[in-house]
Amino acid sequence: MDMKWSLNELYTSFDSKKYQSDLKTFDEKMESFVHWAEENLKSFEEADKKISQYLNRLIELSSLSSKLMTYPRLISSVEAKNEMALKYLDKLQVKYSEITKSYVQFEKFIGSLDDLDRVINSSEFLKEHSFYLNNIKDHTQYLLSEKEEILISKMKNTGSKAWTKLQNILISTLLVDIEIDGELKQLPLPVIRNMAHNKDKDLRKKAYEAELKSYRKIAESSAAALNGIKGEVISIAGMRGYKSPLDETLSKSRMDEETLNAMLTAIKEYLPIFHKYYRKKGELLGYENGLPFYDIFAPVGKMSKSFTYKEAREYIVKNFKTFSDKLANFADNAFENRWIDAEPREGKRGGAFCSNIHPIKESRILANFNGSFSNVITLAHELGHGYHGLCIQEESILNSRYPMPIAETASIFCETIVMNAALSEADEEEQLSILESYIQDAGQVIVDIYSRFLFEKELFERRKEYSLSVNELNRIMIEAQKKAYGNGLDHNYLHPYMWVNKPHYYYGERNFYNFPYAFGLLFSKGLYLKYLNNKDKFVKEYDSFLRSTGKNNIVDIAKLMDIDVHSPDFFRGSLKLIEKDIEKFLELVENIK
Ligand SMILES: [Zn+2]
Repeated sequence: MDMKWSLNELYTSFDSKKYQSDLKTFDEKMESFVHWAEENLKSFEEADKKISQYLNRLIELSSLSSKLMTYPRLISSVEAKNEMALKYLDKLQVKYSEITKSYVQFEKFIGSLDDLDRVINSSEFLKEHSFYLNNIKDHTQYLLSEKEEILISKMKNTGSKAWTKLQNILISTLLVDIEIDGELKQLPLPVIRNMAHNKDKDLRKKAYEAELKSYRKIAESSAAALNGIKGEVISIAGMRGYKSPLDETLSKSRMDEETLNAMLTAIKEYLPIFHKYYRKKGELLGYENGLPFYDIFAPVGKMSKSFTYKEAREYIVKNFKTFSDKLANFADNAFENRWIDAEPREGKRGGAFCSNIHPIKESRILANFNGSFSNVITLAHELGHGYHGLCIQEESILNSRYPMPIAETASIFCETIVMNAALSEADEEEQLSILESYIQDAGQVIVDIYSRFLFEKELFERRKEYSLSVNELNRIMIEAQKKAYGNGLDHNYLHPYMWVNKPHYYYGERNFYNFPYAFGLLFSKGLYLKYLNNKDKFVKEYDSFLRSTGKNNIVDIAKLMDIDVHSPDFFRGSLKLIEKDIEKFLELVENIK
């Protein structure tokens, strides 16, 4: 089976007629859009007509730019050094920033309109975009002058976005020196990181040591990039009048502080349960002082069963079928039509992601598949993102962007389906292995994410005053890991360079890209409970719930499923499910000993 994706459905090459003519159309439409906004948003007569026209033009432009930009973005994710991709991406970013002026004009237009509600109710098309328009109105308080907005948007291309690019190049081209079987090798970072899942204990430790050592080559440059990005974020957030970058992230995530605090309260209460798990895993592997970092991902139990890519496909499709045919068919189709790039190779970025391409109603998934059960779960996860895209593609493209904390809901839900199906057909040894792998992932999403949240909060606090050195960043990371992992991990073997490794810290427009994962997991778990209670009803409601995630704030999205996210109890309920799994794991360990 082909493990590389096909992008032909987007474009066949940069030189193709279609790409070049779309580029030209984009240029023309952009110019005409900017001109139209300039002319029409000066006065308020016929406001309803103007808003409709604006939205229609924006929809056209967004679709076109999404296609034009996704293509080079996907290419550069598998070929970090592809010059054409980088060039076009850069060109388009510059081009697209011209739209800022019109955005600002429109935002100011909406902000000064007294009767927005009446206007929205004047047509079905405007009603469809009611949330989009009201959201703009709510955010006008953070808007700067037209000139400042344009300047910021242009400067970001040479500021934070340039730093992001640098970090991306550093990390995706980093080669790690490692000695394997007496032979000195230079291997790409994703290959080394994958060794953390290897059965061979010595190799796991060796890979960890080699990985840490390799970061020294890029730590100074990474720190410069990080300081540059976070410094810019702080300046702009302050100018806009946000209390802090976290405040800005919450606001853009359509999530309120009450929800975040309710979740953090519950998480802190449940950390000791996770510590128990880490210690037990440590004991199982022969450690007395807690688990060393390099064995967090060590395989446990007898499900070291590996999957071919074809088997992974069959396994996922079969288990998705227990939820619905629609989900199963979606996944099968994604494999069949080569929507997935699963082969690890040099120059390709690590980890996994899914890109939903609204204009062509398709998705593309990047993964680094090496045959482990955890890789199968990752594929299920990314396919969940794709399914979210499938449900939302019927909406206008302006209603298709869901907030970060909701972004992980469908993906984790799909993981849970496959995990629970796998558990139900496994014997005790396999159960131990599957449960362990599941708790391992939950530990990443709850405990490690909590450490990343603490790290980033501290980083922002200090960056307000000065640029941080590599040593200081390392120290903050270690402190954050100690707080989150408690005595679960051996404090002599933590991971000071996680801030170099994780790309999430380097997105200037997505700060605190950590707590949304925890929210996603706990929200998804809560949903899963509801699914178990009434499967037929849930399956019917689920699609329309996913579909509406791009046009509601989180409190309201949750309400659609009768969930109150302001209450720590909701999150405690989800954590309780994980606690049960941990208890079952502890029990299985005793049985098998
Ligand atoms: Zn995800």
